[in-house]
Amino acid sequence: MQEFTPEDLNALAALVSPDRFSTGQSNRELHLKDISHHQGTLPAGIIWPLTTEEVAKIMAYCHVQSIPVTPWGAGTSTEGNPVPTRGGLVMDLTQMNRIIDIRPRDLQADVQPGVLRKELNRMTGRHGLFFPPDPGADATIGGMIANNASGVRTIKYGATKDYVMRLTVVLPQGQIIHTGCKAPKSSSGYDLTRLFVGSEGTLGIVTEATLRLAGIPVHHLAATVTFNHLEDAVEAVAIMMGSGLEPAALELLPPVLIQLMNQEKNLDLAELPSLFCEFHGISAGMLQEVANLARELCEDCGATGFKSGVAEDQRKELWRARHEAWETIHRAHPGNETLIVDAAVPISRYPEMVVLSQKLVEDHNAIGYVFGHTGDGNLHVVLVGDPHNTKQWSRLETINHTIVSKAVDVGGTCTGEHGVGIGKRKFMQQEHGASFELMRQIKNIIDPKGLMNPGKIF
Ligand SMILES: Cc1cc2nc3c(=O)[nH]c(=O)nc-3n(C[C@H](O)[C@H](O)[C@H](O)COP(=O)(O)OP(=O)(O)OC[C@H]3O[C@@H](n4cnc5c(N)ncnc54)[C@H](O)[C@@H]3O)c2cc1C
Repeated sequence: MQEFTPEDLNALAALVSPDRFSTGQSNRELHLKDISHHQGTLPAGIIWPLTTEEVAKIMAYCHVQSIPVTPWGAGTSTEGNPVPTRGGLVMDLTQMNRIIDIRPRDLQADVQPGVLRKELNRMTGRHGLFFPPDPGADATIGGMIANNASGVRTIKYGATKDYVMRLTVVLPQGQIIHTGCKAPKSSSGYDLTRLFVGSEGTLGIVTEATLRLAGIPVHHLAATVTFNHLEDAVEAVAIMMGSGLEPAALELLPPVLIQLMNQEKNLDLAELPSLFCEFHGISAGMLQEVANLARELCEDCGATGFKSGVAEDQRKELWRARHEAWETIHRAHPGNETLIVDAAVPISRYPEMVVLSQKLVEDHNAIGYVFGHTGDGNLHVVLVGDPHNTKQWSRLETINHTIVSKAVDVGGTCTGEHGVGIGKRKFMQQEHGASFELMRQIKNIIDPKGLMNPGKIF
């Protein structure tokens, strides 16, 4: 569906103020693509609701008229998650961006879905609190909930699912429901909150969330560790994870990526297989002891360099460089696009995944950067190429397919954090078997007309 009927135009326009519904070509094109290569179908229009009630009325109208609805946050997904596949209406939630309440004593915040995570952290920071999940991009809370996003600090703090206590959701027919509660724990019935977290907008629109917050750690300690071989670095991660050190981040980086970071960010990092580590604690003395043990363990695994206790501004610079790794790679290869492999495996299988990924990149004569949130078994390979060069792009697809299939085969998952979207649909049966059918049945009960973010997950 690429154009609305005159009746649809009148009805939808009447539900919001005139500046919040558009069928203009540029607005439609702006909501056609996330950061991936996945192609969508031009939506017929974009709507920007402000309240749960507006969302409910829009959904009720679209249900009756069988208009597909695709929710949109910041559009930073990597698997085509918010890309409309059947045209229809894109519901852009970015104007629902109010932080409704911060309750420091409860360690909670109530937010609308369009709040950006950095803004939330700026406001909660005034109370000494933060919302830990940290995808590199400045994503919306709604997009993070829908994708169950995580990031470099997941090993210590967990993913978005661990921070969502209560949701207001508008179902496809326009019904408003509340899931969960504000108590720190509950055993009350099915955990519907977790059902909506990670559902990628296929079951309804999140219009409000109560989030759990954490105290900002008093002391941070960052360390960079170098090795001669990538496999030694991965072994060090496995050992550190089992040592009781409780790292807050353990990131693996290959020399080729360090080289790009040095060039672009003017850093002076050794261009060797490396780990970026971070530890959080209550005193500098305690963190020094943690660093001493981490150094010992890394040296046992063959570390050739261990630099810890970098100054605060250097620590921030290091993590900024890591968070911007994708942008750095993108800028280093102008005119190309990236295919970002995202899979996760048990830590013991991580070394073979790294070796396999590197071999595949070499064997296919491809450009590829192998790195990841190694502490939680999450592997990324950023493959670079031109989607219009079908031969080259199909080689990248083969690499992606081989790595992701292997991850599922060894007991892992086809997506550690980016979600299924369009790109990972083909692995869902392999990963979930009969329970994928149960997911399909749940989808059919909640959205019998298949109008919510169609073409995703299934
Ligand atoms: C440079 C870069 C680095 C990244 N690093 C990471 C990382 O380390 N970890 C990680 O997890 N991800 C990462 N990502 C991916 C991305 O940022 C996350 O998946 C993020 O959660 C997407 O949020 P968004 O606001 O952009 O949502 P969008 O991309 O707009 O949408 C995501 C999904 O949510 C749905 N949706 C949006 N709002 C709602 C709502 N209110 N109700 C229901 N459904 C909704 C959409 O339909 C879509 O399915 C990275 C992306 C980039 C560009």
